[in-house]
Amino acid sequence: MRILLVEDHLQLAASVAQALKGAGWTVDVLHDGVAADLALASEDYALVILDIGLPRLDGFQVLARLRERGKTLPVLMLTARGEVKDRVHGLNLGADDYLAKPFELSELEARVKALLRRSMLGGEQQQRCGNLLYDLGTRRFTLDGATLSLTAREQGVLEAMIARPGRVMSKEQLAAQLFGLDEDASPDAIEIYVHRLRKKLEGGGVRIVTFRGLGYLLEAVDG
Ligand code: CA
Repeated sequence: MRILLVEDHLQLAASVAQALKGAGWTVDVLHDGVAADLALASEDYALVILDIGLPRLDGFQVLARLRERGKTLPVLMLTARGEVKDRVHGLNLGADDYLAKPFELSELEARVKALLRRSMLGGEQQQRCGNLLYDLGTRRFTLDGATLSLTAREQGVLEAMIARPGRVMSKEQLAAQLFGLDEDASPDAIEIYVHRLRKKLEGGGVRIVTFRGLGYLLEAVDG
């Protein structure tokens, strides 16, 4: 799952990005509103963390433009402490949550998880497919009750698939969830991750089906 962080305080941005990456998310960091607006128009994010005071376009403007384009991804706004009118304004523009600065990184992580849970798994903490179980709180996959050992990329592919049950995901869509702006996004690499995932899922009552020219579907095996 890919997160966009927009924060012009470089030190704060770096520490937040490091914490989120440490938790296993792909994170793009931008420092001004225009760059954020462009990235949100062209890239596929699961969530955006948006500061209000930004150069070129402020957070409110970025949020308003995002919602005007009909994008529903969750937005967590970063506000100055005690600025009630900022919070109200942000919520009215379609923000999903806010966090007042200064904040603890653990609280930010908890709120990010809660927002993703609401938007990705229909409010459920866990998602099941066959004997494969995914827990959004721990971000752990278990197969027949045993923890599945996955690389970060394999984890990303499987998360993208289990978050959209019953939907065929193209290589491009999966790559868009996986690679940050500064990485070489290679849809062909997805084939390798899918190949490895198939081996790890063998015998677990779940499989990844290929639809030639369309993409992949995660599904439970009958019987
Ligand atoms: Ca700022």
